[in-house]
Amino acid sequence: MTLRVAVTGAGGRMGRAVAQAVLSDVNATLVSVCARQSSDLVGQSVASVLGTDIADLRIGGTLDLNNVDVVIDFTLPESSLAYAQQCAVAGVPIVMGTTGFTDEQRATLDECLGSVASCRAANFSTGVNLAYRLLELSAKVLGDADIEIHEAHHKHKIDAPSGTALAMGDAIAQTMGADLSQVARYDRASSREPGTIGFSVTRAGDIVGEHTVLFASEGERLEVTHKASSRSAFATGALRAAHFIADKPANSYTMADVLGLS
Ligand code: NAD
Repeated sequence: MTLRVAVTGAGGRMGRAVAQAVLSDVNATLVSVCARQSSDLVGQSVASVLGTDIADLRIGGTLDLNNVDVVIDFTLPESSLAYAQQCAVAGVPIVMGTTGFTDEQRATLDECLGSVASCRAANFSTGVNLAYRLLELSAKVLGDADIEIHEAHHKHKIDAPSGTALAMGDAIAQTMGADLSQVARYDRASSREPGTIGFSVTRAGDIVGEHTVLFASEGERLEVTHKASSRSAFATGALRAAHFIADKPANSYTMADVLGLS
């Protein structure tokens, strides 16, 4: 069955990458695309914005859920919350890649998505989701090493550290029986405290996304690194998640579920 997909954030880097991924998928159809209401893109044809030759489809200023099997959303926390509420009311599954939610926003999201199938991930790339497993294994064996997480992204990224870096820290902390909020160190102006996980951040140029986790002990160190060279890695992962959740019962699915890693 062809999956009918709605994409939000048509003006955004990820919105465009996801729309392109849907257009390249013979088992999916792009049926609805929207941008923020005040955007110049509203009313323009998707073909002209994406530079592709597709049947005429106009960019809307609101999310149209008619004949939609699944929504894929990568926008901002405020708009993602509104889209999630709309999907919950209409019973339409949603894949959400937006990061930077506050704890309060995340709790609202959890509550409102209780009635539909959803998949949220700070990183939809296959490599990063596999890396979480490698990090759990590394933390199990090297839990007493000094652990540092470094991430680098383009200069336009709003939140820091990245949702992926935090998810990596969380996977490691949980494996060690610790609470990330207690062991994370985001600013270090003095010497290293044992048992902590240090975070450092680079924001520069057009870096798509790089994460390195360092486990350093006396005499040796292990580094687990993932580098994304194109947003298509996230877009195809999100589309894979969309295919996975479209006919599933209401639940909050993870990329580990989608990739068969759970
Ligand atoms: P971007 O700034 O290029 O795009 C954001 C989009 O949100 C724009 O199209 C903007 O118009 C839209 N938007 C803003 N306010 C809106 C509103 N009120 N209503 C509707 N739309 C609105 O950012 P991006 O690089 O595309 O990233 C978007 C989000 O996805 C960020 O949170 C980023 O961290 C996250 N991201 C996640 C992954 C992942 O794999 N989970 C990968 C890359 C980026």
